[in-house]
Amino acid sequence: MKKTAPVAKNDYIDVTFEDLTHDGAGVAKVDGYPIFIPDGLPGEKAKIKVIKTNKGYGFGRLIKLYEKSEHRIEVPASETHKYGGTQLQHLSYEGQLQFKEKQVREVLSRIGKLEDVKVHPILGMEEPWHYRNKAQVPVGEKDGKLIAGFFKPRSHEIVDTNESLIQHPAVNEAIQVVKEICSEQGIQAYDEAAHKGTLRHIMARYGKTTGELMVVVITRTADLPQKNKIVEEIVVRLPHVKSIVHNVNSKRTNVILGEKTKVLWGNDVIYDYIGDVKFAISALSFYQVNPDQTRVLYGKALEYAGLTGEESVIDAYCGIGTISLFLAQKAKKVFGVEVIPEAIEDARRNAELNGIDNAEFSVGEAEVVIPEWYKQGNKANVLVVDPPRKGCDEALLQTIIDMKPKKVVYVSCNPATLARDLRILEDGGYKTVEVQPVDMFPQTTHVEVVTDLELKMFN
Ligand code: SAH
Repeated sequence: MKKTAPVAKNDYIDVTFEDLTHDGAGVAKVDGYPIFIPDGLPGEKAKIKVIKTNKGYGFGRLIKLYEKSEHRIEVPASETHKYGGTQLQHLSYEGQLQFKEKQVREVLSRIGKLEDVKVHPILGMEEPWHYRNKAQVPVGEKDGKLIAGFFKPRSHEIVDTNESLIQHPAVNEAIQVVKEICSEQGIQAYDEAAHKGTLRHIMARYGKTTGELMVVVITRTADLPQKNKIVEEIVVRLPHVKSIVHNVNSKRTNVILGEKTKVLWGNDVIYDYIGDVKFAISALSFYQVNPDQTRVLYGKALEYAGLTGEESVIDAYCGIGTISLFLAQKAKKVFGVEVIPEAIEDARRNAELNGIDNAEFSVGEAEVVIPEWYKQGNKANVLVVDPPRKGCDEALLQTIIDMKPKKVVYVSCNPATLARDLRILEDGGYKTVEVQPVDMFPQTTHVEVVTDLELKMFN
């Protein structure tokens, strides 16, 4: 039954928040009608203003807190919080971990009907700030100077941001310094509406284990004015820079990077390690933004794979081969599948860089390539999947059920699709042995999960 709203737009009401939605908004109920309010925490009493009412639910804004949650923490008012996706920044880290773990349990039970499955306590970070190794920020102009930061929601207005609390200090510093240098050299910001001007974005990437920094300057124009002076200044003011890259994106588009890339100074890549595996990262490469927790997550995946050195392993959705290269150290052979050709090129290069010769990579859709392999009689003993948010394609799940690898390790960035897929695998003969949530993105609502599945004994 659809409820008509018991409140109206612009009403001020007093409420108590009962829960958090999966995207971190507080939930208050008026006669059973839910209203979502960003910033509200369970247990808190507050005055809110109703912003919008739909048939089954509404939205509000927090006006005044009467009673605070013991989990609320005071953080410096930050642009990242308002605009940069760190929706849980006002919740203590312990509270965030509880929220994520609870979400995994609830979804597995509700969608996956896995009531009794063993869910381990979530693995969090000791220092849940400044963990990101990459930022790419849009550039604008204000009072004759360059600014760089976040877009205001649903607008193209840029908020100048000096520090993001989740970026590594080396990344924050690089963005500031490059912004200043370009400003001093009189570089114009790109004007999106008119599709005029020069500098679109500044990107910085940092190899935490090597201390190597890459700076990428993205322009609309093929030329970067004052190029030599800019490079000279960057090298002086950012001494750990190893690579300065100019990328040209002349299109009217929201996509940040264009196709033309030119190294202005130094190497074309920087290096970083996840565990013992070394990665070469170019301006265009995909690379995990939190390598510390990636090591924790993929370490678990490796443990669940239970390799003895005799196994043939398929790594579906392998990206640049991070998991494949982890597994190759303990398996007989690893076959990675990924749909983006450039990622497969990186995967092959990274295998070579590490002297790993038992990993083979193929370009294609997992749900097409793996059934093809199965038809040809190629079977794996262990299958690892790490799909995007929408989860695994049904054709792939059916092939797994037919192929019957003794172990399936499911790495997921979306508990809801994980739960849906686990149900299909359970019905097809697999048992969910245990589930390990890992906090890859503190201060945000994202949660990663790695799951250990075993083929049930033949009966
Ligand atoms: N394990 C990877 C990251 C996986 S992210 C790593 O460690 O780097 C999910 C990946 O799945 C992305 O690289 C995406 O390009 C790829 N992908 C999306 N749909 C796919 C499909 N149908 N078949 C194969 N790969 C796909």
